[in-house]
Amino acid sequence: MHLAVAARTDVGRIRKGNEDSLHASANAYRGLFIVADGMGGHAAGEIASEMAVEIVSHDLSDLNDLDSPDAHERVAQALRDANRAVFERTRTERDKLGMGSTVSALLLSESRYVVGHVGDSRIYMARDGEMRQLTKDHSLVQEQVDAGLLTAEQARRHPQSNVITRCIGMADEIEPDVFDGEARVGDAFLLASDGLTGMIDDRRIQQLLMSRAKPERIVDALIQEANVNGGNDNITAVVVRVLEVESTNTDREVTPIPPVRTHG
Ligand code: CA
Repeated sequence: MHLAVAARTDVGRIRKGNEDSLHASANAYRGLFIVADGMGGHAAGEIASEMAVEIVSHDLSDLNDLDSPDAHERVAQALRDANRAVFERTRTERDKLGMGSTVSALLLSESRYVVGHVGDSRIYMARDGEMRQLTKDHSLVQEQVDAGLLTAEQARRHPQSNVITRCIGMADEIEPDVFDGEARVGDAFLLASDGLTGMIDDRRIQQLLMSRAKPERIVDALIQEANVNGGNDNITAVVVRVLEVESTNTDREVTPIPPVRTHG
């Protein structure tokens, strides 16, 4: 399993705190990458996204075989566990009322990926000169895009673009999206919070993700451009590229990576 990975979160230019959390880790079999974007007053958003990342990464820490028949259920259960824990705190702690978080999680082996998703953080995949958004936003504007009332670009600039219809902590039960697909050498994945995708259009994201630059450079460029374009929200980007086995002998990539978790 050979991956090149870079992961970073940035407070942006307007917000005082950072409510995004991320996780990036890899073992011999697969990588696990998570972006979570929290919401709620009194720093509750930070707590919600941190809880979501911790519970999901812990639950999935021993899921190594992405082809196993229970992989989907394991991912769904991890998101449900995170939901239950966050929701419980919204009910029992007065200052946590309304707290919640998105979660977009990617498990990636040499031949397969599995995604678990709730909310409007996104996972993109670039392959053969094209980029595709794997996740579908659980948001008000996405529903209007589906109904043909808005284009994707209109949705991105819409004043209600940040209204989400599903998240961790919103209700006692959630329905996470879980799906899988084939992974190949050369594929590049991006996990991003809406502080990134709201500030940079897909065409530019695609240009950067498909460039031959190292993941570190791509992540830095994405965060810098999101800040130049306004930095209205916290910005998180995780870039992962699936490498040739032989490339471990070169010095241009790092594999496997140590666990990384930054927050705030
Ligand atoms: Ca956000």
